[in-house]
Amino acid sequence: MIVVGAGLAGLTAARALSAAGRSVRVVEARDRVGGRTLNASIGDGNVVEMGGQWVGPTQDRVLALAAELGVETFPTYYDGRNVLDLAGKRRTYKGTIPRLGPHVLLDIERARRKVNKLSRDIPSEAPWQARKAAEYDATTLAAFIEKITWTRKARDLLEIAVGTLMGTGSGEQSLLGMLFYVSAAGSFDMLIDTEGGAQQDRLVGGSQELSLRMAEELGDAVALSAPVTRISQDASGVTVTAAGAELRAQRAIVAVPPPLAARISYDPPLGGQRDQLMQRTASGTLTKCVAVYPDPFWREEGLTGEAVTDARPVTTTFDNSPPDGSRGVMLGFIAGRDAVEHARRPEAERQGAVIDNFARLFGEQARQPAIYLEQAWSEEEWSRGGPVCSPSPGALSAYGEALRRPAGRVHWAGAETATIWCGYMDGAVRSGERAAEETLDSEGWRL
Ligand SMILES: Cc1cc2nc3c(=O)[nH]c(=O)nc-3n(C[C@H](O)[C@H](O)[C@H](O)COP(=O)(O)OP(=O)(O)OC[C@H]3O[C@@H](n4cnc5c(N)ncnc54)[C@H](O)[C@@H]3O)c2cc1C
Repeated sequence: MIVVGAGLAGLTAARALSAAGRSVRVVEARDRVGGRTLNASIGDGNVVEMGGQWVGPTQDRVLALAAELGVETFPTYYDGRNVLDLAGKRRTYKGTIPRLGPHVLLDIERARRKVNKLSRDIPSEAPWQARKAAEYDATTLAAFIEKITWTRKARDLLEIAVGTLMGTGSGEQSLLGMLFYVSAAGSFDMLIDTEGGAQQDRLVGGSQELSLRMAEELGDAVALSAPVTRISQDASGVTVTAAGAELRAQRAIVAVPPPLAARISYDPPLGGQRDQLMQRTASGTLTKCVAVYPDPFWREEGLTGEAVTDARPVTTTFDNSPPDGSRGVMLGFIAGRDAVEHARRPEAERQGAVIDNFARLFGEQARQPAIYLEQAWSEEEWSRGGPVCSPSPGALSAYGEALRRPAGRVHWAGAETATIWCGYMDGAVRSGERAAEETLDSEGWRL
């Protein structure tokens, strides 16, 4: 078997195939493994995650993988009050409900309930089969939010949530796509909450550690700096062309995000539905900004480090300090159009704009970081964006059926193909496990 892509999905698939006694090669374009997970060193043996990082309840497969690989989890720091900075006014609050006018709170609560209710009718294994699939897919999330909310502040907060979750504006998402995302996670609350939700825990040593350990286990079976350019297939197998070499196997698992899979050439060409799906699935634009301080000074002020702000460019922040709090790490997200504009600024100006944000939210001490790091995922050749790829409005209902359907001997994996926690590390792991099973079944290698 050949697995294209050494992210969590590809490495999980390869590990499962290897455990089933099959010979496997993983072919990775980058000179490293981990894909959209990436650790950066901040000194003294500490790392900070520049890509995917949090895990939470019900993300059972990534948690099981971490346990198998001996990677422990620790809780995201969440003691104290959060900051909300809207329309020039900064306030702090405890828990998930900010201090806003009762009509705004009611508005947000109504929207939350509505999204949860509608998502329950979306089968996450086949959202295109939902009763109102075509109608929801023809509705942008922006139009839906406009319809169900009355207040500007509620809309602004929902827009910030969509940006951080998907890396896009609500005008680029279909309602069906969003409801599917919510359905695959269990509820909207699971997506946005820290305690009890997707941001609850982190991995000791950073999330990339999972891929690094799997690659170590697989040893020589993982080839780096080998971008796959072509996959051809015939009655007896596949030929995968990577960095000028041709590899032959019974089947291939393509574990790369759809826009990257679309850049590989296929012989015979893929069916129209699959190709159209890839053409209409685009990566979000998300930039992570990290400032490292001698200590997490906001904790002394009784703050969690979590903030939501419309001051921009950063719209959400989190405390991303190491488990022992020996350094203070402030993480900020810049999403969608803000990230596009931010990328146009000269480097020094970019740091200044983010640090201004942090100082506004957490005080003047934020002005003196020892280290500042930025990771703009849309500038990455082998990711072309993040955190996840979304089908454009209308695409999921028309072309979604081709999402996991194998194209002959070519099988599809990756976080975007997951039916549970789609777009997340857990989804990536599940997709790798599913694709490995699929190939084993197809070859009649299992009873
Ligand atoms: C900023 C950011 C924050 C995130 N936050 C979270 C979070 O907190 N929690 C969470 O669960 N998830 C989060 N995610 C999402 C999570 O990181 C991804 O869902 C997951 O890592 C995807 O894994 P994957 O294996 O499906 O794809 P990738 O990680 O994208 O792996 C695909 C691999 O294929 C390689 N590749 C691409 N093209 C080719 C080719 N032609 N030939 C060979 N190799 C190729 C790539 O280099 C890459 O290594 C975040 C992502 C980002 C970017």
